Amino acid sequence: MLDRFQRSIHDLRISVTDRCNYRCVYCRAGEAPNGHHAAELSWDELARAASNFVALGIRKIRLTGGEPLLRAGLVDFVAQLAAMGVEDLAVTTNGHLLADLAAPLRRAGLRRVTISLDSVHAEKFARITRVAAGFPRVVESIERAQAAGLAPVKINVVLLRGFNDDEVEAFAAFARERGVVVRFIEFMPLEEGRVWSREMVVPYDEIVARIEKIHPLVEVPGAPSETALRFRFRDGAPGEIGIIAPVTRPFCGHCSRVRLTADGKIRTCLFSLREWDLAQLLRQGAEDAAIQAFILRAVLHKEERHHIGEPGFQRPSRTMVHIGG
Ligand code: SAM
Repeated sequence: MLDRFQRSIHDLRISVTDRCNYRCVYCRAGEAPNGHHAAELSWDELARAASNFVALGIRKIRLTGGEPLLRAGLVDFVAQLAAMGVEDLAVTTNGHLLADLAAPLRRAGLRRVTISLDSVHAEKFARITRVAAGFPRVVESIERAQAAGLAPVKINVVLLRGFNDDEVEAFAAFARERGVVVRFIEFMPLEEGRVWSREMVVPYDEIVARIEKIHPLVEVPGAPSETALRFRFRDGAPGEIGIIAPVTRPFCGHCSRVRLTADGKIRTCLFSLREWDLAQLLRQGAEDAAIQAFILRAVLHKEERHHIGEPGFQRPSRTMVHIGG
């Protein structure tokens, strides 16, 4: 699929639920974990949607949420996607429930996993996630994912000024010691609590400079559509550093992504102000041809870029946990 800016759209992110068992301070307003949630597409509806995206050239699917591992049936869904011939299948998870699911997911056809971890200190981790005793579970999940052959294991770290920005060096050490890819993410204005300000963003340049001081880095060339700028350690240590810098180095010009929310809406950008109701079409019994025409129309309307930090920037009506990160 090509959009009107001649970008090739071949990555799909599917949010399988907007429920989450963590209430990270930079994401959630702090209401109880079982607050109001959108009506989820059934697994059959999700599979039908996915097969139509695949027919249109989607090669990579990442399952996310909310917390995708909360939804029973995820392993079978991964197997269904693998059987559709999806080349690259991945999951983004907070890792809380991954330890026991890593091997079954791998057997079902999952290739790799991204685990979110915003502190290497158990106490601070509990303060960020507002869940006690999560840290050892997530660390165990990282180990079990590696043992299950999910590779690479990537660790997502959202850096917040004054909160966990003192941990850049510790996370670099974590990458080296554990042979994982640590990806620092610039904080985006997609949170429920409306706390975002540019001053809270820890920029790409600072992250690179601070790691370079201790462990010189070498840039790893990647595909232009990759969200992260990647580095390995010059001394040959295992592990890798990635930096996802949507605020200071936007990558919209190479964006290859489209999203499907848990309630069946297509979103062509995290910051879209418009959604495309695929759920309604699926439930009306539409033919595959009509579904594919609808997807193509949405893709043709993909936004040129986001406008974070510009005057007049408008937040989308839904926040990260409801869109799917
Ligand atoms: N529950 C899963 C998890 O924790 O990875 C998947 C969903 S979560 C929304 C996906 C990723 O988005 C996580 O790594 C999370 O830290 C990140 N994230 C959430 N809010 C964000 C924000 N405002 N800016 C940047 N990244 C954010």
